Amino acid sequence: MKKGKLCIVVPCYNEQQVLPKSEPIFKKVIERLIGDHQVAETSQVVFVDDGSTDKTWLLIKQYSNEEHVSGLKLSRNFGHQAAIFAGMSAVSDADMVVTIDSDLQDDPNVIIKMVAKYYEGAQVVYGVRNNRQTDSRFKRISAKIFYKLMNCLGVKMIPDAADFRLLSHQAVVTLINYPERNLFLRGLVPLIGFPSAKVYYKRTERVAGKSKYPLRKMINLALDGITSFSIVPIRLIMNLGLLIVLIALILLIYTFIQNAKGNTVSGWSSLMISIWALGGVQLICISIIGEYVGKIFKEVKKRPRYTIEKDLYHKNNAD
Ligand code: UDP
Ligand code: MG
Repeated sequence: MKKGKLCIVVPCYNEQQVLPKSEPIFKKVIERLIGDHQVAETSQVVFVDDGSTDKTWLLIKQYSNEEHVSGLKLSRNFGHQAAIFAGMSAVSDADMVVTIDSDLQDDPNVIIKMVAKYYEGAQVVYGVRNNRQTDSRFKRISAKIFYKLMNCLGVKMIPDAADFRLLSHQAVVTLINYPERNLFLRGLVPLIGFPSAKVYYKRTERVAGKSKYPLRKMINLALDGITSFSIVPIRLIMNLGLLIVLIALILLIYTFIQNAKGNTVSGWSSLMISIWALGGVQLICISIIGEYVGKIFKEVKKRPRYTIEKDLYHKNNAD
């Protein structure tokens, strides 16, 4: 059987402390797979510099002088999802594309198992973490709530599968043909279909440096995930509106009855409370609808999802 070409796409944002540790390990995985005749000689690790402001690009350039290593430089920081997408699009000629974080939190040796699953016929292989001990308590709980919420909203996602996965050539080509600007790969990948498999691994601590995912970016990613994949929130607003109208009707009837009985309703406070409460509900509802309108605004502009400044993989602008 013909050995397939494997490309390992590694997004990097200000990872000068991490790369000297992780680059040799990624390379070793490629070399081992080549040595075992599992993948083609042309297989590579492709680092994507997501607009780093430190020495990340210098390091990547230096590594790309070695065999089986190359890199891309984006023109600015486009974010983790866009960096992965840029890498996958650039190496879409490969037979297998693995995406993995640069910080060694995902075990690179699991790639060997992913490749085995590919040869067994899987076009999509999810890396699923079977522990979360190394994450903070907050991250653990928030992730659990997020996956539950997404499930309730009808978005198909593989729980605890982050962006460590293998995609076949056909799967990558299908994925990059999805035209949407809002990238939430965890939600998109299950949509493309194809036979899939899972491999389990233990997620470890970051080898060096700090997380590039502050709370702000995490909330943005979660909001993107919800609003790009589900219109359930808008439907909920409609139901809420109907419920409030119903309550108002009941109150109206009640007031008439009381009036007929000769009881005058004094309720100044209940009136004020309902004005404030309804005002609040309306503002929340408008903001949810606004979130969707914002999404549409972004989509119709059709701006590029990323811009490549330098491409050592195809040797474009590769000085
Ligand atoms: N990353 C990126 N662009 C960003 C933020 C992060 O390319 O804007 C990369 C980062 O260098 C790392 C991966 O995405 O390789 C995951 O980020 P990180 O480890 O900081 O996230 P965490 O594991 O804390 O969720
Ligand atoms: Mg990490």
